[in-house]
Amino acid sequence: MPRRDHARPLHAQPPNPSNFLPPQPLADRERRLRFGPKSLIAIAIGAGLALAVPVAFGALGPAVGPLQPLSGGVAGAVSGSHEPAPAATPGLVATAEPSSPAPDPTDEITTPDIITPIAPPVASLTGYRWPITQGRISLPFKAIPGGEWFNGTKLWHDGVDMASFCGARVGAAHDGVVLAAGRHFDEQIGWLGDLQPYFHLLDRKHMWNDLPIVVVIDDGNGYRSIYAHFLDVKVRVGQHVKAGQQIGREGRTGHASGCHVHYGLFSPFETKQFGVRADILKRLRLPKHVIARVDPLRVLPGGDVALRTRQIGKAIAVGKAETTAAEANAADARAPGR
Ligand SMILES: [Zn+2]
Repeated sequence: MPRRDHARPLHAQPPNPSNFLPPQPLADRERRLRFGPKSLIAIAIGAGLALAVPVAFGALGPAVGPLQPLSGGVAGAVSGSHEPAPAATPGLVATAEPSSPAPDPTDEITTPDIITPIAPPVASLTGYRWPITQGRISLPFKAIPGGEWFNGTKLWHDGVDMASFCGARVGAAHDGVVLAAGRHFDEQIGWLGDLQPYFHLLDRKHMWNDLPIVVVIDDGNGYRSIYAHFLDVKVRVGQHVKAGQQIGREGRTGHASGCHVHYGLFSPFETKQFGVRADILKRLRLPKHVIARVDPLRVLPGGDVALRTRQIGKAIAVGKAETTAAEANAADARAPGR
């Protein structure tokens, strides 16, 4: 289990439409968007849909060994350069201006100062694959004694730990753009607050090398993937990657007890938060909150099988079979004469 995983609190930065903005400091992410009245209605509908899908915090499982604080926090959702986001960001997508008659100059349009994007429903996410293709789930996304995050009532492990062997190839779970690669990743992992006191502490006590090597990728769908504890990384900030493309090698940086990949998932547009364990806050001077994570097994093929059997290979096989069956059904449905 990782120490000071990505479990750190994220920077206090307002969720940003990272899909639409070039990489920039979080402060810049607070863009003012202008929308007409029709757009606002569409946004409201989009928001309603998104909010109707609660973020699951994962099933509680049997207690596992105590987690250690994560090194290098996953900080705020920093915007990365992006392809235009597809329908994955309902609040934003809904803002497309409908064609309308020429405006009446006497018709005052009120424009809201800021429209906060809404996290797309997790169930709408597609195109994910397993970062490693063998090995086992060593720790799911769930409440655990010693977890570094606090979800309101329980200490939490905020991602899925998957372990195969040291040096194993680790691939991107989804197409995207690299926001961080190395030990300077906290600005990208959703911290809600000022990271400067933490950075000053790392500088003063020469603690940077205690942090895990991490890759953060903007998945281009309103979510970000966080991969931690690399032996080394094979990508650089700003690089576009395809799902399955190697991003690094499995390792144990950040005081992990053994080689594994901690894979986390969150939306910069999510409003739910995780708190940070009190002793970690005190020791590391991190912000108190980070944007809440979701269970990555909800988007990985055969995730339910992985949770039950802990076997990644089995989950992948079941996921493939399900995809094949779904494609066959779709083909049948399209077949003439039915
Ligand atoms: Zn972990």
